[in-house]
Amino acid sequence: MNIVILSRNSKLYSTSRLVEAARERGHEVRVIDPLRCYMNISSHRPEIHYKGEMLEKVDAVIPRIGASITFYGTAVVRQFEMMGTFSLNESVAISRSRDKLRSLQLLSRKGIGLPVTGFGYSPDDNLDLINLVGGAPLVIKLLEGTQGKGVVLAETNKAAESVIDAFRGLRAYFLTQEFIKEAGGSDIRCFVVGEKVVASMMRQAKEGEFRSNVHRGGVARAIKITPEERSTAVRAAKILGLNVAGVDIMRSNHGPVVLEVNSSPGLEGIETSTGKDIAGTIVGFIEKSGRAGKTRTRGRG
Ligand code: ADP
Repeated sequence: MNIVILSRNSKLYSTSRLVEAARERGHEVRVIDPLRCYMNISSHRPEIHYKGEMLEKVDAVIPRIGASITFYGTAVVRQFEMMGTFSLNESVAISRSRDKLRSLQLLSRKGIGLPVTGFGYSPDDNLDLINLVGGAPLVIKLLEGTQGKGVVLAETNKAAESVIDAFRGLRAYFLTQEFIKEAGGSDIRCFVVGEKVVASMMRQAKEGEFRSNVHRGGVARAIKITPEERSTAVRAAKILGLNVAGVDIMRSNHGPVVLEVNSSPGLEGIETSTGKDIAGTIVGFIEKSGRAGKTRTRGRG
């Protein structure tokens, strides 16, 4: 097959592993910077150009779109879909997963376990938003944060009020959330490919930190998950419409709760901690499902 990986940097671990896996399986593969793609949006003849060349006969694209370029990146993916190219994750699904609030609403609608979460607008409702999630200790999260930035643990209601005042002062939207203390600073990354959890790892926050992000010093190891966790992860990816997803789950005293669903999950942590060939599994999935014209939305929605 003729495969394009949309990524800003071919040297990144995930990108280079996908290139390697595709070549090993005998495919033509190219890494293309989505920000250097430009498009002709004329009726019936959608085109994508890259550094002066028109891209043709691409069977499948693998979007690796960073959070900071979601708007432009998803427009490029949508253009490929309009041309009938199969996208590993479709543009609508990527956009949904990038909106934390919208994803939580979609998941709650289908009964997926979530931490009790509050969202509000008026400063008059600050106290209610704190009480709604059970009061301190509670977590306050900026809607726009990634890699644990903008995720704050407020140990008292007073501290929570101050953080909320500060966020409102910056005109930033935030969520209040029940603190899942019983997870002891750990969460589970379930790597979903095509309705299966193909690998899972537990990330443990470093001493004195509640956020388990690897960027914040968390360490990862392979873990066996329960059938309930497995089905929660698979359902969460499906609800958002993602073929490939990193579903982050915490073990709470009311069962598994989903923290977030990532549409460009990194391969390094999961391949290193589990020893599995996830890049190969992804390319295998594309071989099975990624024929041209197979894109569900064809750029709609
Ligand atoms: P980001 O998208 O920035 O990684 P997350 O919502 O995933 O933000 O939060 C970052 C980390 O903080 C999580 O991996 C988890 O370890 C911790 N965390 C987030 N929400 C909660 C919560 N409600 N209770 C306990 N820990 C949490």
